[in-house]
Amino acid sequence: MTDASRRRFLTQTTAALVAAPFISTTSTRARAQQSRKLGVAVCGLGKLSTDQIAPALAKTQHCRLAGIVTGTPAKAAAWKAKYGIADRSVYSYDTMHRMAENPDIDFVYVVTPNALHAQHTIAAAKAGKHVFCEKPLEISVERCQQMIDACRDAKRLLGTAYRCQYDPHHLECIRLVREEVFGKPNIVQAGFAINVGAPGQWRLQRALAGGGALMDVGIYALQATRYLTGEEPVLVSAQETKTDLARFSEVDESMVWTTKFPSGVVAYCSTSYKAGGIQNLRVNADRGWFELDPAFFYDGNRGRRSDGKEIRFPQTDLFAAEMDDFARAIIESRPTKVPGEEGLRDVRIMQAIYESARTGRAVSLV
Ligand code: NAD
Repeated sequence: MTDASRRRFLTQTTAALVAAPFISTTSTRARAQQSRKLGVAVCGLGKLSTDQIAPALAKTQHCRLAGIVTGTPAKAAAWKAKYGIADRSVYSYDTMHRMAENPDIDFVYVVTPNALHAQHTIAAAKAGKHVFCEKPLEISVERCQQMIDACRDAKRLLGTAYRCQYDPHHLECIRLVREEVFGKPNIVQAGFAINVGAPGQWRLQRALAGGGALMDVGIYALQATRYLTGEEPVLVSAQETKTDLARFSEVDESMVWTTKFPSGVVAYCSTSYKAGGIQNLRVNADRGWFELDPAFFYDGNRGRRSDGKEIRFPQTDLFAAEMDDFARAIIESRPTKVPGEEGLRDVRIMQAIYESARTGRAVSLV
């Protein structure tokens, strides 16, 4: 070994020895960060939070229920007792700014009526928290944009809770389209109808819901046509029908709409609050078809294909899957799979659907 090569060897070895503990510390830190469970504060303790989100949190790998936001003291007491939530992590809608002092909370899951999503998202972002928000993102494009801006300004992620984007049945349908297993798609059909129930609830009040069946469940049909085609619609034409003028005086009861996509795919969609039992998604392509029916349940969705094969996967908790994915995006400092912008796009198209139904004319989206 020459003097020069010995010096190079010693320099490299020393550098490696100095770096070794650093490398092992950072990878240990990275591993600790990966396995850390993020604290989630659930904002709005209604039916979805109680029946789906709280149980799903217990099934996640990367999340834990760390706080609540509620306007009802009795619910706060019940959730504190059931889930062992600390007093300092219980907030009202007016005290959300105090979350800024609470390191136990990493993100807020907004599960309040549609027209309160912006208010609660912006409060959480200003307190330095990431936000995962239920669908529809809000009731107007302007409010969706305010939410996106608030999270961007706070350097926090905003995710839209579109659970079907985590359903293996929907993912399989996307694969069948992308890989052209049945050739190029030409027609997509999607429908989602429920019986909304009694009058008096916020879903039937325009100020809180922003709209009726379309905003609540038709949005799933609309979303599906977009993620299946992978395209944005260029033209929409819609028609609304009301049969119960008293119950649906403020919001849409039943709506059908057609959208045209740039590739020439046409989507026929429907939604209703009048009765349940319609939940389907079908893609017709050049050499066959496939469909899901039911398509939009929390679990138990299934489907079939024109070649006789079934589309059936084991049950997964979609709420756990979407929360874990959002948590991983925060941990890994990467964009979330379903950002706020995705929620905004649907709200924009739904506004065009309402405009078309109101004016009786097709509305251009380009
Ligand atoms: P819900 O009526 O059961 O719960 C709403 C909660 O908001 C209640 O706890 C209520 O007390 C609280 N709230 C706060 N301010 C309120 C006000 N001014 N008026 C009325 N309630 C107020 O409703 P939900 O079914 O839990 O729906 C909540 C959100 O979740 C909605 O945006 C809805 O679209 C969405 N959602 C999503 C799914 C899904 O599958 N992803 C399913 C159901 C609901």
